[in-house]
Amino acid sequence: MTKLVIIGGGHAAAQIATSLRMKKFEGDVTLVSDEPVVPYQRPPLSKMYLSGEIGAERLPILREQAYASANIGLKLGVRATSIDRAEKTLALANGEVLPYDKLILAVGGHARRLSCKGADLAGIHYVRTMTDTDAMRGEFNTAKRIVIVGGGYIGLEVAAVARRAGKDVTILEAADRILARVVAPEVSAFYTRLHTEEGVDIHTGEMVTEVEGNDRAAAVLTDSGKRFESDMIVAGIGLSPNIELATSAGITALDAGIEVNEHCQTSDPDIYAVGDVAWFTHSHYGRTMRLESVQNAVDQAKVAVEHIMGDDAAYDALPWFWSDQYGLKLQIAGLSEGYDSLVVRGDPAARSVAYFYMKGGKMLAADCIGRIAEFINAKKLITARLDIDAALLRDESRPFKEIAAEMLTA
Ligand SMILES: Cc1cc2nc3c(=O)[nH]c(=O)nc-3n(C[C@H](O)[C@H](O)[C@H](O)COP(=O)(O)OP(=O)(O)OC[C@H]3O[C@@H](n4cnc5c(N)ncnc54)[C@H](O)[C@@H]3O)c2cc1C
Repeated sequence: MTKLVIIGGGHAAAQIATSLRMKKFEGDVTLVSDEPVVPYQRPPLSKMYLSGEIGAERLPILREQAYASANIGLKLGVRATSIDRAEKTLALANGEVLPYDKLILAVGGHARRLSCKGADLAGIHYVRTMTDTDAMRGEFNTAKRIVIVGGGYIGLEVAAVARRAGKDVTILEAADRILARVVAPEVSAFYTRLHTEEGVDIHTGEMVTEVEGNDRAAAVLTDSGKRFESDMIVAGIGLSPNIELATSAGITALDAGIEVNEHCQTSDPDIYAVGDVAWFTHSHYGRTMRLESVQNAVDQAKVAVEHIMGDDAAYDALPWFWSDQYGLKLQIAGLSEGYDSLVVRGDPAARSVAYFYMKGGKMLAADCIGRIAEFINAKKLITARLDIDAALLRDESRPFKEIAAEMLTA
């Protein structure tokens, strides 16, 4: 096998390049991205890059030179348009056709757009690419009132940056609580209190029905009849995976993502899909899912490369994620869906607390706020699938590291 083509410009694509170099892959490698820059980190786009604390030079995952030394050809700013699986070629928008022996789709997703009346007005922004954040920066710097549609992580992070910059910030969330899809009501309550204390005006149960304005967005209307005036709107309402390249080539995919097996292979064994676009069965949780996290992009990329290089690598990494708001770090280990009880360690009012999600006495997941020891050790406890005494988890008289070590060696 001599020719490997990667499509993507995010964490997964960069990790494939790194892993190929580490594994001493000797074939021809080409990376194709429709973004004009080398693969970069997206998390800062709603955090330190938006606030201006870091500049564009800090975003690349690997410097351009690293691709050259790993013998990886870069085709940037050019879109892959179709795959011919019979011929094993990839067509690009600039007319080039690249032959491949193995193809890796690290194509991620795109920000879901508002679809209500007025959704096309200027002054409505999304945060998925560097271009998105660059495009909003001018308005962000001068806006006094910002309305954020969506109380998920991206919306909350943008809200935190905007408050620190002294803006009036309103969050409109359609569900009855922020972060409803991903955390327990107690954790939603923590973040509601945090943002309210920092001065954000949060409205839940408010579905956006219209964006009002003449040449640009000036107000957001909701189904309860409320009207929120704004100088600028940022919508963080989810991600749609980029499945079209795969589906048009007859590769099995759902709207939810491109189906892959435990080796990250699609229905065509010479084509892999990794990262935000991949729909897979997680062996630890025994259900199908798609994950939007750096950890997943990186770990799936490693598995795909190892499998291509002949190892029997299978993906079973424990999911983890983080979010930064007002200098407070949330670290999440595992997936909480299906939990039957929640154990709280620490003091939410002091902004230092860990929430452990339990099922049948075992730990499923943990949301750790300003609690690094709890995060590190929760990962071990979840992986070990131990029966756990909730009273021990709550016991703040002893360091968590010590408690976890005792449980793991019992
Ligand atoms: C604002 C923001 C904040 C985030 N914060 C966190 C965080 O705090 N922690 C965390 O773990 N995760 C966070 N994430 C999620 C994380 O960034 C993603 O999970 C990760 O980027 C996924 O990497 P990926 O390589 O799978 O996909 P992506 O990063 O989406 O990369 C896909 C690339 O493929 C390119 N592409 C797509 N189709 C084509 C085509 N046909 N031809 C050529 N190129 C194509 C795209 O333009 C893009 O460059 C955040 C995401 C965003 C947007």
